[in-house]
Parts: sequence; structure tokens; C-alpha cells
Amino acid sequence: MGTIDPGHGSNNQVRTVLYIEDDPEARFLMAEIIRYKGYNYHSASTGLEGISLAKKHKPDLILIDLILPDMQGNEVTTLLKSLPELKDTPIIAITADTRKDVKKMVLTAGCDGYIAKPINVSEFIYKIEEFLAGKKEHIEPESEKEYLQRYNVQLVSRLKKKISELEELNRNLQKLNEELFASREELARYNDHLFYLNTLANYLRTLHNPSVLIDLLPSKIGEAFQIERCVIFEIDRRNKEFVPLSLYGIPRAELEQFKVKYTDTINETFRQEDGILWIKDISEIVDEELLKFAKKMNSRNFILAHLSHLGIQQDSTSLLQNISQDEGLKTDFSSSKRLLIFLDKGSRGPVFATYEVRILKSFLQSVAVIYENMILYTRLIDLYKIKSQQAIRDGMTKVYNYRYFIQELQRETNRTMRFHTPFSLLMIDLDNFKQFNDRYGHPEGDKVLRKISQLLDEHTRSTDTVARYGGEEFAVILPGLQKKEAKFIAEKLRKMVEESNTGKKGKRNHFDKITISVGVASCPEDSIHPQILIELADQALYRAKRSGRNQVCTA
Ligand code: GH3
Ligand code: MG
Ligand code: MG
Repeated sequence: MGTIDPGHGSNNQVRTVLYIEDDPEARFLMAEIIRYKGYNYHSASTGLEGISLAKKHKPDLILIDLILPDMQGNEVTTLLKSLPELKDTPIIAITADTRKDVKKMVLTAGCDGYIAKPINVSEFIYKIEEFLAGKKEHIEPESEKEYLQRYNVQLVSRLKKKISELEELNRNLQKLNEELFASREELARYNDHLFYLNTLANYLRTLHNPSVLIDLLPSKIGEAFQIERCVIFEIDRRNKEFVPLSLYGIPRAELEQFKVKYTDTINETFRQEDGILWIKDISEIVDEELLKFAKKMNSRNFILAHLSHLGIQQDSTSLLQNISQDEGLKTDFSSSKRLLIFLDKGSRGPVFATYEVRILKSFLQSVAVIYENMILYTRLIDLYKIKSQQAIRDGMTKVYNYRYFIQELQRETNRTMRFHTPFSLLMIDLDNFKQFNDRYGHPEGDKVLRKISQLLDEHTRSTDTVARYGGEEFAVILPGLQKKEAKFIAEKLRKMVEESNTGKKGKRNHFDKITISVGVASCPEDSIHPQILIELADQALYRAKRSGRNQVCTA
């Protein structure tokens, strides 16, 4: 290259050359030549990169290869020439294409010149200086039209291909969009369901009565899932029957006809299926019992869910059963209702969707837990009632116990202090009861104690307090009564016991009749202290005993 003079073109500005070529070796060679001339040099390996560099550096000359990886040199040229800032920049095609009309083709596409490969360096430098100086090559006018046509045909066919590619892409996009839309709709439905069920579950949680839950559930589920019929069955294990309790979509008059017999195979199927059976088609049922059930229910597509299988596996009622046994209670806590839910989509309309079954299952799991908690709650209330009665009643006689009596006596004296209302206290003791026990035995004595308790309870007001003070001694609080009135009542009770002929026939037709002695003390007349009142009433009772028993004495 020693024969070549480096130069700086016609004006003083340093020229810039851009070379668009995918062959790295050709780019390397060009870099040598251009830099030797002292020009700025940029190169691009694709058409797109070439366009972007051309826009950026605004070169004085662009050299372009005809075959590029992404587009044709001709296309790049047309594009560059369409840009206002580059429309006057000379573009020279450099190609090894030897077809005889290739020069005409590149000039038609908008190139300003054409240099064939391989290049002769000194000739090449001479040529590019010519182009930099403004030289333009032209094609012969008579063939220009012909080449333009050919070029257009080529362009149109490439465009058609591109368009069909784009159409295909568009179709795929549309399909994708439709799928996306469908899943978005399903998601929205899923979301609506979840929201509704969550609200419903929260509402059900506020209920306390299990039978209200059973009554409400079918219609609520029916509305949520567009279900045609819903039935809640109780599983009657003794009679091996599904007994309908509540329903939706079926007239109540038809309730009875939905009683269904079953065997244990269904129960086993539930155990295996995690508590919920989804029958998509009656023809897929293997279990004979289940098939019978489906036929009886006249259903093809349905769901059967077993609430106890879906709920807390460990039956919470067994805990209560243990407590009540430990406490010696006779209440049976073991028999909780086992529930089965039948859901039928009907023959018209859509069948269950997989997502519906999924959220149904989780909803029914919540319902099962809510139901079990309700049962537990009502039983705890029952247990509480029993226990709280037990705490204040005497086990044998069922009248109030000593502890409750003392509390009540304190409450009455407080009331007297505050409202100045009087009350009276009776201490009652059975006469010669030791003798009675000795003659007839303790069990007979117990019977008498129960009988006298019952009589005292029946012959006093509900606002009075009858309590077993201990042994064969009773205490009665008479609110609102002063001593005179209380003595009258005491006398009435004594007479009542005597006339009740409570007792036992002994030897030689002798009848041992039970009588009572009564001591009366009043508040505030005798005292305003509970303990002193008891002592005073006791002293009066002692006097009654000493005076011959079966009589009433006052403090
Ligand atoms: P009094 O007329 O003086 O009251 O004579 P009493 O024999 O009733 O009096 P005492 O205090 O000597 O005897 C009370 C008896 O009451 C002693 C006991 O045999 C009997 N007794 C106390 N508690 C019970 C009980 O729970 N069941 C039975 N069967 N007897 C009881
Ligand atoms: Mg006695
Ligand atoms: Mg006594």
C-alpha cells in the first residue's frame, strides 16, 4: 500500500466512512484502507446496526455489502435514502455478485455506485474519492423501468412473505388472547365464588344452633353454585339409612321419598376419597350401593360429601363423653348427627367445573368444622347447665345444698339492710329419726329424706329457698315474711308433713309416722347477722324438741 497517498479529500474536514458488512475479514481489511487514508471509520455487521450507526454518525460515505444476515443491502439502501438526513449521503454497493445486471439492480435500489469484489486497493481508493467528491453512477434510461419492475416484484414477494408471517403471528396472538380472556373469566368466577363462600362461612360462624345451619345450608350452596338440587342427609347408623333433613330444589312434600338405605361400602368409599365423591357420569360408578343411590336420586352428575370425614377427624364429642362419664352424668354426648350433603347440577346446564369442586371441598371443610364447633358449643352449654345445677343442689334430695343456703341467707340479709324488707328463717329437724333408721335401715331413711324434701319444696313458694342444712335437718328462707307470718307457714308445713303420713309400717301394725319440729327466727326482728339468725332459729328448734317435738317454736 506504499504507493497510495494519504489525503484529506476536497475540504478540510476529516471524512467519515461507514462500512456495512457481515464478513469480519472484509471489515478488517476495509478498516486498514480507510484509516490509512486518514478517514474516520465505522463498521456494522447487520443491516439494522448499519442504519442505526448511519443515523448516529452521519457519515460522508456508506459502503454496503449486498447480502446481510437480517436484510438485503438493497433494502438497507432504500431505507437509508428515505431518511431526510441521509438522502444525499453517497451509498456504494460492494459485492462479489457477478451477475451481469447486478450493477443495474443496486443503482435501481438507490445506490450511487458499484464496486466489484475482490477489490484492487489503489483503484478502490481512487473510486471512493470520486464518490466523496460527488460522482454518481447512472443506469441506462431504457432499462431503468425494467429493473425497477424486477426490483419491485422482488420487494412485493418479500413483503407478502412478511405479511403472511405477521398474519400467522397475529392469529397465534389472538388465540392466546382468547385463552387468556377465558382464564381471566374463570378466575373472576372463581374469585366471586370464593368471596361469596367466605362471606357465607363467616355468617355461618355466627350461628349457634346446628339445626339452623342444616336448614340454611342447602339453599345457600344451591345459590352459590347454580345447583339444581341439594339435600342434607343424616346418616342413621342404627337403621343404615340416609335420612333427608333439609333440601333445596325439591318440594318439601317429597322429602320422605328420599330416604335411602346404605351399606358400609359407601362409608369406606368416603374414607378412601377424603370425604368427597365427585360423580361426573353415572356410568363410571363401580360401587353398587352408590349406583343405587344415584338411581334413587335420579341424578347423573353429582357430588356427595361426608361432613364428618371432611371435618376434624378426631371426634370432639368423645372428649365431652369422657367428661360426662367422669362426672357420673347420665347425659349421652356420643350421638352427634353425621351429615351427608348431596349436590346435583341437574340434567340441564353446565356440569361441575374442576375448580368448583375444589372450592366446594374447602368450603365444606369449613362447614364441617363450624358444624362440629356448634355441636361442641351446645353440648358445653348443656354440660354447664347440669354442672351449675349440681354445684348448688344436694345430690340425694335435690333441694339446695348447705353452701347455696349460706349464700342465699347472706343475700337476703343484704336485701333487708338495703330495702328494709323482712324475711324469716325456718330450721326444720325430723323427729326421732335415729330410731327410724335403726328400725328400718338407712335406705328407708333416705327415702324419707327425699320424700320430706319434695313435700317442703312443693308446699313453699318458688321464691322461697328450701335447703338441706345437713343430716336430717332442713332450712327454709321465706323472703318478705315477718315472724308472725313465718310462724303460720311453719305450722302449715308441720301439719302438712304430719298429714302426709310419711313413714313405715312396723311390727304389729304399728305405723312409724314422720313428724318435724320447727324453729323460727326473723330478720331484722331477731338479728341482721346470718350466723346469729341460724343460732336463734336452732335454739327455737331445740325448745320445740324439748317441748315434745312435732311443734313450732319462735326465737
Ligand atoms: P331428735 O328428734 O332429737 O332430732 O332425734 P333424732 O334421732 O332425729 O336426732 P339425732 O341427732 O340423735 O339423730 C339424727 C339421725 O339422723 C342420725 C342419723 O341416723 C340420721 N341421719 C342423718 N343423716 C342421714 C341420712 O343422710 N340418711 C339417713 N338415712 N339417716 C340420716
Ligand atoms: Mg332429729
Ligand atoms: Mg338432727
